[in-house]
Amino acid sequence: MADSQLTALETFLKDYPSIKYTPPSSPDYPSISKVWNLARQDNPLAIVHPQSAADVSAVIRYAKSSGIKFTIRTGGHNLQGRAIAEGALAIDMRALTSVKVAADRQSATVQGGILQQELATKLWQEGLATPTATIPSPGYVGWATYGGYGPFSARWGLGVDQIISATIVNANGAIVEADDSLLKGIRGAGGVFGVIVDLAIKVYPLESILAGVIVYDSQDISKTLTQFNAAYQKLLSDGVPLQLTIQQMAFNAPQGRMFAVSFMWSSDDIEQGQRWCEKIAALGPALMNTVALTTVPDWLAGNGALVPLSVYGSSRTHNLHQMTPDVVEIIGRNLAKMPSDPATMFSIHQLRGPSAAPNNESVFAAREPHFMLEILGYATAEEDRKGSEQWAVDLWSEVQQLDAGNVLPSAYIPLDFLEEPRQPGALSRLFRSHGQEILALKKKYDPENVFDLTVPRLKYYW
Ligand SMILES: Cc1cc2nc3c(=O)[nH]c(=O)nc-3n(C[C@H](O)[C@H](O)[C@H](O)COP(=O)(O)OP(=O)(O)OC[C@H]3O[C@@H](n4cnc5c(N)ncnc54)[C@H](O)[C@@H]3O)c2cc1C
Repeated sequence: MADSQLTALETFLKDYPSIKYTPPSSPDYPSISKVWNLARQDNPLAIVHPQSAADVSAVIRYAKSSGIKFTIRTGGHNLQGRAIAEGALAIDMRALTSVKVAADRQSATVQGGILQQELATKLWQEGLATPTATIPSPGYVGWATYGGYGPFSARWGLGVDQIISATIVNANGAIVEADDSLLKGIRGAGGVFGVIVDLAIKVYPLESILAGVIVYDSQDISKTLTQFNAAYQKLLSDGVPLQLTIQQMAFNAPQGRMFAVSFMWSSDDIEQGQRWCEKIAALGPALMNTVALTTVPDWLAGNGALVPLSVYGSSRTHNLHQMTPDVVEIIGRNLAKMPSDPATMFSIHQLRGPSAAPNNESVFAAREPHFMLEILGYATAEEDRKGSEQWAVDLWSEVQQLDAGNVLPSAYIPLDFLEEPRQPGALSRLFRSHGQEILALKKKYDPENVFDLTVPRLKYYW
């Protein structure tokens, strides 16, 4: 079956020489088909590399007419490795990376295969920025369209809030501009309706940032976490400017387990930022402070060096109304026994300001102010995977059981563990009241489920 599919695919590609092709026999196939989570050991049928929206359109028309299953692969950073699937054609979007800034410099049209680092670099050359993830290597579209948490969220909102318009290759293989209802679905349900070949997004003038990591004495990590959070709550109640976003994190450095804060001041008023840096550093026993004047591309590149290039395992998320003392106690106790693998990590994103404001033009569910716990049960070696995953499940379960009222009824799709087949109620765990709206959009725009192997896979909810 695979052989005949490959032969037919190669015949089709002869008419489209612009589409690059990596067959399983290519020496590049193993590296190109690798995704961040190596636990996904699927072998794609082959990989195609469209060079334009027209190429994507041709591939979708071909896949639909020949009944070939396919996945979309951009940064390969889906935490379950869903950019590839066994026997499915992988459509690698990474050649589509152009960025066109509008004449008024308030928006830019970015192609669907661009990664965070490339986008930040191209915008910075123009004196502009837009919200990004914390790490340089995830795809921009996969990040922005499923939510898009990051260091500029308090200032400018989430990734979904930046999307002005979208061009997709739809289920018929046509290149179309998303209408208002489809656009609403794309802002939160990402690529379930088609291949996103470009997005027009909001961009903002920015000349400098003050950013880096503040590391605290972590000999007693539980005590430091508790001290930091008690003081940070007090600071929040006094008022923290929206130019500041902090992300608490715990990770394993060569020196041992560390509690730290990623600090981002996204305003040209650097003196004010420095005062806030001192205040944040004083919230705990600070040991080291790398916060300095830098650029978004340099800051992203520096963060990239802190995260393993590939891992084994799975992650869990919780969205919480409050970091109550009981929650902090559970997290601290579990951080004290976090496995020592460099890929086992934990972090806390906070949604406030515009990122926590209702957006009726989006199906992204968690719009109230909250804290998102990112519990990364990964290991760099496959044999250590189980221990890290169990640690993540245990921490997740303890928080869940503590106080159901504090846990928001939806998870963060890109970072969560999506079980297949799904449990009852799983759709509302992803999208809350928007679940049925998304299914209706899917039936309208992709009635034959051409885009089946997507994140999430909607056929499990029909
Ligand atoms: C190390 C790491 C750090 C991360 N940091 C953050 C963070 O700070 N904030 C945050 O919110 N998230 C973060 N994430 C999650 C990440 O943003 C999401 O998993 C995102 O979806 C990854 O996009 P990708 O293109 O790399 O994924 P891929 O694995 O390539 O693609 C995943 C899926 O996205 C869809 N998709 C991707 N591109 C397209 C397209 N052009 N058209 C249609 N569908 C498409 C497809 O369904 C595809 O299967 C992080 C993940 C990792 C592994």
